[in-house]
Amino acid sequence: MKAVVYEGPRKVTVKAMPDAKIERPTDVLVKITSTNICGSDLHMYEGRTSMETGRILGHENLGVVIEVGSAVVRVKVGDRVCMPFNIGCGFCKNCERGLTGFCLTANPGMAGAAYGFANMGPYSGGQAELLRVPFGDFNCLRLPPDAEEKENDYVLLSDIFPTGWHATVLAGVQPGDSIAIYGAGPVGLMAALSAQIQGASKIMVVDTHRDRLQLAEKLGAIPIDDSDGNSAQRIVEMTGGEGADRGCECVGYQCTCHGREVPNLTMNNLVKAVRPTGGIGVVGVFVPEDPGAQDELAKKGQLAFDFGQLWMKGQHIATGQANVKAYNRKLRDLIAAGKARPSQIISHTLPLGQAPDAYQQFDARNEGWTKVVLKPAG
Ligand code: NAD
Ligand code: ZN
Repeated sequence: MKAVVYEGPRKVTVKAMPDAKIERPTDVLVKITSTNICGSDLHMYEGRTSMETGRILGHENLGVVIEVGSAVVRVKVGDRVCMPFNIGCGFCKNCERGLTGFCLTANPGMAGAAYGFANMGPYSGGQAELLRVPFGDFNCLRLPPDAEEKENDYVLLSDIFPTGWHATVLAGVQPGDSIAIYGAGPVGLMAALSAQIQGASKIMVVDTHRDRLQLAEKLGAIPIDDSDGNSAQRIVEMTGGEGADRGCECVGYQCTCHGREVPNLTMNNLVKAVRPTGGIGVVGVFVPEDPGAQDELAKKGQLAFDFGQLWMKGQHIATGQANVKAYNRKLRDLIAAGKARPSQIISHTLPLGQAPDAYQQFDARNEGWTKVVLKPAG
């Protein structure tokens, strides 16, 4: 099969790899028809993780079931399915509670497994013609009859739509709340869409990329260009001097200021921008060590965080990988009912062969490159 393989910092190739196959009776084999490039792939692409060379990338996957293992009872050949980026077993203590981003058995020794991901187990990614889905009955979300027509909406159920939603849940969004979202990348834009659906009264999205801020505005948010570094102050002013009720971090440890990485910037801006007793949800990725960082603390996975401010303001903070399965079925039904159209942020739909160029353009955050969907089946 053809697949996108990580060859080292800023190098991916599309090449022939051994076909994915059923390895356990509970596996499902999927012929991939859509697979996205994610901001999380970029941390790996840039060599800022411990991703091994030679591995297949891709954790945002949708396709058609072509084979099922002997112990699979519900998923059938021919089903169109979308897989959460997390692999959950369904029976461990965390999966049972819906915390499938922290499955205790799929990646022994660590809580959490994913396809084609650094530190998240040995599983191959789906930027390929075929994908092996472990615990298939649990991990395949079956799609309704309009699956082909709305494929670019449904494929966003694999990660960024549920992750944006998770950011708002971690922050504690309630109808009528104001919310400040740092990052207008795909995840931040999906957090804005999620806040909109949940009845937020004012949604403010911060970034420095004009094209992405325009998309935020299209989703009903107030765009805030942070080129001057005053975003937090402006959010406080826009909320009657109090600060936003909720804040979401949708950037992660590689957040920047004028092209230089400042790993604590968004976290400290959120503490400033959110009101006393407000909530902050952090889905942008932070890592336990980052040897490639310029910052001494960040090398050790630490941040110069304004904890004293956070404490004085009595804010709460929650973090982590999104438990995609906790949301994907409900969000699927919103798409099916025509009440959510997340695909409006997709900028490029390309054949798998164009992945190397797409990685380069998306990594550079070149104008107009917001979200790429690869189509391995042509
Ligand atoms: P992205 O890199 O395309 O988007 C990040 C955006 O943040 C960019 O538009 C960038 O201009 C902006 N940004 C950079 N510095 C900033 C700053 N100081 N202030 C405001 N905005 C700033 O990626 P994405 O796909 O949107 O992903 C965002 C983050 O979410 C990444 O860290 C990714 O790994 C993470 N992620 C987490 C989960 C999860 O389950 N928790 C899932 C998917 C992605
Ligand atoms: Zn992703």
